[in-house]
Amino acid sequence: MMTVRQIVNKTKENNPNDDTELLELACEFARKAHGSQKRRTGEPYIQHSYHTAYVLAQIKADLSTIIAGVLHDVPEDTEYTLEDIKKNFGEEIAGLVEGITKLSKIKYRGEERYRESLRKMFLAMVHDLRVILIKFSDRLHNLRTLDALPPEKRIRIAKETMEIYAPIAELLGIWRLKWQMEDICFKYLHPEEYKQMQYEYEVEKKTERNQYIQQVKNVLGQKLKDAGINYKIEGRFKHLYSIYKKMQRKDRKFDEIYDVFALRVIVPTVSDCYKAMGIIHSIWRPKPERIRDYIAVPKPNGYRSLHTTVFGPENKATEFQIRTMEMHEESLYGIAAHWYYKQKYNSDPKFFKEPAWVKEILEIQKEAKDTNEFLNKVKFDVFQNRIFVFSPRGDVFDLPEDATPVDFAYLVHTEIGNKATGALVNNKMTSLDHPLKKGDTVEIITEKNRKGPSRNWLKFVKTNRAREKIRQHTKSQRLDQIKRIFPSKFS
Ligand code: MN
Repeated sequence: MMTVRQIVNKTKENNPNDDTELLELACEFARKAHGSQKRRTGEPYIQHSYHTAYVLAQIKADLSTIIAGVLHDVPEDTEYTLEDIKKNFGEEIAGLVEGITKLSKIKYRGEERYRESLRKMFLAMVHDLRVILIKFSDRLHNLRTLDALPPEKRIRIAKETMEIYAPIAELLGIWRLKWQMEDICFKYLHPEEYKQMQYEYEVEKKTERNQYIQQVKNVLGQKLKDAGINYKIEGRFKHLYSIYKKMQRKDRKFDEIYDVFALRVIVPTVSDCYKAMGIIHSIWRPKPERIRDYIAVPKPNGYRSLHTTVFGPENKATEFQIRTMEMHEESLYGIAAHWYYKQKYNSDPKFFKEPAWVKEILEIQKEAKDTNEFLNKVKFDVFQNRIFVFSPRGDVFDLPEDATPVDFAYLVHTEIGNKATGALVNNKMTSLDHPLKKGDTVEIITEKNRKGPSRNWLKFVKTNRAREKIRQHTKSQRLDQIKRIFPSKFS
């Protein structure tokens, strides 16, 4: 049973100064509104509202979002309206609840509905990302109580979660929710594999794993202490579904998935991160191809950490993530940490940069003619694999895989795109349709007198941005031509 006290305490843990009186009022209001309604599990309905709010507090959502979480099913399922919520709890909270109510109107049935719901999710997301956080928390509690539903319904909800919710959670960097949702769905979609892996991971290998991790901790802890670095080392629980996916992808058995031994090292500063990585490499030999510096070059969703895999004790491959506390919280809560840090540090923008794709989705929405076009573009421009390339000055740009110098040019500046005539990729002259690779350094050669982009570029550009800029330019050029031929019509 979830209690109001638990929600309030969790909220205060994040922000001791939060005035939780309104939260308590909301709990009371929702409890009365839902009255004697029951969930399929037989529990009082209000338990669902409370659990949703609690998950929000766990991912460090802000107070308004937690309150909206408590109220999220009120307009839909009780006699109280959105107006009542606005009167009692104000515009901001009512706005969030309204967002959720709108989202819940669409149900997932077959391909068309799937596309439509995905579109709605994206739109709600760019409108106010917090709506999606509530939707996720709502969904997570529904998943946890899935047993109460008939089998077909369980499968449908699990599939929908895998196809829509998990990818969006990943995009937003809310790994904690993504993993939890995936592991529950995995259980329903592949019950045999789930049971088998759960047994191997949680029963058979558990003692061995714990002993091993303790051994690594002891050795590394001593060295970090000698170097005067404050640290926290924790063994990482690997999520069953992510192991399963890796096994499928690489066609390997459970034993062969090497990063089953995984540890996380949390240290105070960025320079400590690099020092700690150096210390790890001085104890155990690293696998060079597995060293990743996501601090210098963060992932598109803002994820930062150092990663390395070493041959640890007994030559067992052991994976490390090294990061500061702030990076750690960002990695668990992703975009949710945004509001947390905004409150905590009074919206100092250096703590959070809105990911570039939020703007991208909005742009696509403005231009797309219909849902299909919208989704294809979002999938292509936002969801597919991204690569990082560099300007000669070392600035980092993130682009979809196989993007071309033209895409890069338009990302830097519209005029650079419009005036591009060629490109130097890693100091070698290349054509403008040359597919770029991860880590390339790209320099665009421009010509001042160039009139504008070529329509042929549309055949190879990969980003929506470049496509639109080229179209815009050729359109306005044609208009200029017409003006020249029929000047009287435009005077
Ligand atoms: Mn709900």
